[in-house]
Amino acid sequence: MNTLKSFKKVMDDLPSADIAPALFIGHGSPMNAIEQNEYNRSWAELGTKLPKPKAILTISAHWLTRDTCVTAMERPKTIHDFGGFPQALFDQQYPAPGAPDFAALTQKLVTTTNIRSDLEWGLDHGTWSFLLPMYPQADIPVYQLSLDYYKPMRYHYELALELRELRKKGVMIVGSGNIVHNLRMMNFSGKPYDWATEFDEKIKSYLQNQNHEGIIQYDQLGEVAKLAVPTHDHYLPLLYAIAQQDKDESLTFFNEKTEMGSVSMRSFILSR
Ligand code: ZN
Repeated sequence: MNTLKSFKKVMDDLPSADIAPALFIGHGSPMNAIEQNEYNRSWAELGTKLPKPKAILTISAHWLTRDTCVTAMERPKTIHDFGGFPQALFDQQYPAPGAPDFAALTQKLVTTTNIRSDLEWGLDHGTWSFLLPMYPQADIPVYQLSLDYYKPMRYHYELALELRELRKKGVMIVGSGNIVHNLRMMNFSGKPYDWATEFDEKIKSYLQNQNHEGIIQYDQLGEVAKLAVPTHDHYLPLLYAIAQQDKDESLTFFNEKTEMGSVSMRSFILSR
């Protein structure tokens, strides 16, 4: 069973392992990339205290495809995949190098499906919005794995299990989405909806108990699941993060808040 340590305690105990960390980041608004707030303060703290990975593989809610792709270019471009935000956000660049060698290794490790090399995508805001505060020097190679949106939950979980070897090679794996993500229901009073809290708490308990089945079959939670996960794009990256968990690894939550009533920022780090 995983013990629950405080975020501070985990941060103080780092760096530890020869295995790169794995994370789930609730990324929320793209503005978290540049606004000064509690979310990106946690991201910045992680960047200073985590053992520096050799590369970072992100699974972002914002790269949905009809097959599974991995970015394999030397110089991934910064993608501004949003509208209606200030120019300052569009001016941001995240010039980290790509990781074609690790992309090739990823293709080799995964046998449940054929992963296609991609030279077109780049780094979408599900990736760079948290990396900009976390590693502002942009000196660690970054690559992305896409989400085949037409495949069932179990496909994603099983594919993610095959990525575990990468952590031993120094690749930090980050799922970037949001556990509760209902943009239609956002409200500016900020108070979380009851269904948002109920779903978030339920998934929290599944995470604490390493109940991965419960997380895969979240739709069995019925009406609250339909409201919390109206489309599953932001939920899917969670499967990639939990699949990295070894039995003896503890899971520590941070940024445990719900924004605008219907976007859970709950995040976690896996560590020994
Ligand atoms: Zn998003």
